[in-house]
Amino acid sequence: ITVTDLVDESFKRIHEVENKVQAFLATDEENARKYAKQLDEAIGNKDKYGLLFGLPIGIKDNIVTKGLKTTAASKILENFDPIYDATVVQKLNSAEVVTIGKLNMDEFAMGSSTENSGYKPTKNPWDLERVPGGSSGGSAAAVAAGEVLFSLGSDTGGSIRQPAAFCGVVGLKPTYGRVSRFGLIAFASSLDQIGPITRTVEDNAYLLQTISGLDAMDSTSANVDVPDFLSALTGDIKGLKIAVPKEYLGEGVNEEVRQSVLEALKVLEGLGATWDEVSLPHSKYALATYYLLSSSEASANLARFDGVRYGYRTDNAENLLEMYKQTRSEGFGDEVKRRIMLGTFALSSGYYDAYYKKAQRVRTLIKKDFEDVFEKYDVIIGPTTPTPAFKINENMKDPLTMYANDILTIPVNLAGVPAISVPCGFSNGLPLGLQIIGKHFDEGTIYRVADVFE
Ligand code: GLN
Repeated sequence: ITVTDLVDESFKRIHEVENKVQAFLATDEENARKYAKQLDEAIGNKDKYGLLFGLPIGIKDNIVTKGLKTTAASKILENFDPIYDATVVQKLNSAEVVTIGKLNMDEFAMGSSTENSGYKPTKNPWDLERVPGGSSGGSAAAVAAGEVLFSLGSDTGGSIRQPAAFCGVVGLKPTYGRVSRFGLIAFASSLDQIGPITRTVEDNAYLLQTISGLDAMDSTSANVDVPDFLSALTGDIKGLKIAVPKEYLGEGVNEEVRQSVLEALKVLEGLGATWDEVSLPHSKYALATYYLLSSSEASANLARFDGVRYGYRTDNAENLLEMYKQTRSEGFGDEVKRRIMLGTFALSSGYYDAYYKKAQRVRTLIKKDFEDVFEKYDVIIGPTTPTPAFKINENMKDPLTMYANDILTIPVNLAGVPAISVPCGFSNGLPLGLQIIGKHFDEGTIYRVADVFE
């Protein structure tokens, strides 16, 4: 099999299903084929091939790619052609991966259904009337539909894990600092992480290893070793101590979702692990804390989109101030505006102490909840989402119900710890995800446990 065969296969599938699934915002067929040919010609002249050599990948559209349009699914970045590659993209290029195209998402990664894309909604390949989840909906759907072998997403409050769960694929949010954010269009800088979405745990482990590591271009990237994650897949979980937070199986969690988690725990017990119910008492404040902090950070990060530096600029302005206002009014979608307003309010003088500062304090308590549990346990397990994929339009009129979708994933980002979603059963033909949360920089143990469910 040649690289050209693989790339052919990828585009064949894209031509078959893309009009239904709508996972891509842009494909790069000409360059992908050219590059595939180049790699094929190089075969034989090399003595070493990385495990990802020649494999087709899709990239979420908030990760900048040199010469390949990057919009973060926003009209305000229409026709934005980055002049550099994100660090993760540079690393993938060194691994000789073939980029197939850019994947759809909620605008600036704000959402849980990909319905907030400024261009088009992506559909769930398991049921085209349902959402693929979000914000990395395109990244999860493209892998589930077989359009690419794997993809990159980003996760600020659940945006890798929730779509992975809804689409029946494997998605990991790394420890904050594990993967460089250089070239990731910022939503909430203290929470954002890029991570892999794949069909198998093994692929996921290898892709994470490829994109991880300290980066001089991101001061929050961590100076810790990148272990060989594949060697963690020993199949041995004897003696593993599992914590199951009662807040993750309580009210609002669908009965079949609950059952699937209990089944998974039985499997783990059968292999020599033990589990106890624990409490993460501050979980109930996580949603409010997250929306205050993430919106505050977003309001600052999105100030740069002013019509001068990148992308879209209005034609309807007489002077500079009007140009800023009009560009932003026309360029941003409703959800993005909602977040900017909420964030600007929370940061404004007179309200800062009551909202932003208070939320920072609660974040510390949430982080402490996790630290306490991890003193005694190796991993925390629960569902990824309270329900399976919902119908398109079902939650669009009610932002609060939409926000509640991420109730089980958000605390993880606030604490900065890593977590995966692996497929663990079905409800009415729709895939469900099991969430496995680990200690800081202990993705190895997460993969070891996740591997049981392959
Ligand atoms: N759904 C959450 C939000 O809208 C999380 C998004 C994300 O992780 N990027 O903010």
